[in-house]
Amino acid sequence: MARAITGTWNNAGVRGTMSMVDLKIRPAWPGMEGWMEILFLGVGEACDPAYLNTSLLVRPEGAKACTAMLDCGFTVPHRYFLGCGDAEQLEALWISHFHGDHFFGVPLLLLRFWEMGRRQPLRVLGPAGVADRVTAAMNLAYPGLLERLTFPLEFSVVADNEGVEAAGMRWRGAPCEHAQEARAVRLDDGGVSLFYSGDGRPTPASAALARGCACVVHEAFNFAGETVGHGSVSGGIDFARQAGAGLLALVHVQREERQRHAGEMQALLGSLKPLRIVLPGVGDWLRF
Ligand SMILES: [Zn+2]
Repeated sequence: MARAITGTWNNAGVRGTMSMVDLKIRPAWPGMEGWMEILFLGVGEACDPAYLNTSLLVRPEGAKACTAMLDCGFTVPHRYFLGCGDAEQLEALWISHFHGDHFFGVPLLLLRFWEMGRRQPLRVLGPAGVADRVTAAMNLAYPGLLERLTFPLEFSVVADNEGVEAAGMRWRGAPCEHAQEARAVRLDDGGVSLFYSGDGRPTPASAALARGCACVVHEAFNFAGETVGHGSVSGGIDFARQAGAGLLALVHVQREERQRHAGEMQALLGSLKPLRIVLPGVGDWLRF
């Protein structure tokens, strides 16, 4: 039986004392084995001061710590380093697209790794142009630092239908519909898979990518309806059901929508079995 365990990490990045809940979700894929863990460094949209920019840490089975970060916006590095005392732990960084709330934290992330004396290469994965964009951001934020980094950056473009190996997992991408080119990503670790939408409304390609994933993390900027360039709570639910996922985490909810529809969203949680829906907060983690 696949399962999801949820909890909250404290400010030191260690699991808190909150009791763990075994959600006993339905297996998303017959014969699925293994597990994966995700920690939400932030779950908000660009301007949300309370929920921080959406960013996930991923810990594949067998890893001692989270080895991958998905998106790194303005607010993310400070939250990350609250719980990170080892500069070598992070092996791979995914950038879904080049809006500031998804990648303007990269200069600070690299600055701090440099300050901590990191030596291990860091894989940086994303859409076409990822090397040029990161280089430009670094040169604006900290001119000259890129040349002085004590660790190499290894860039990889994750193209449609092509798998890239990094941090012990296989990474595949697909386009979402957004104000600029933006990509969803799928991580496979042996028998268990995670889908993360990044920013954007689902597309047939992103739906195909998500098929069979145990966990779908989808942006839900609006509560209902169709919005150009963004997903919604209702659309995310349809998407996760079509994918056959057992667990759906809704993130990147527009801050006024989150307040306006708080009661309706709470009512959805746990009400659509066998799909388990969660609305994570900053520092929450899931195992599935
Ligand atoms: Zn965006």
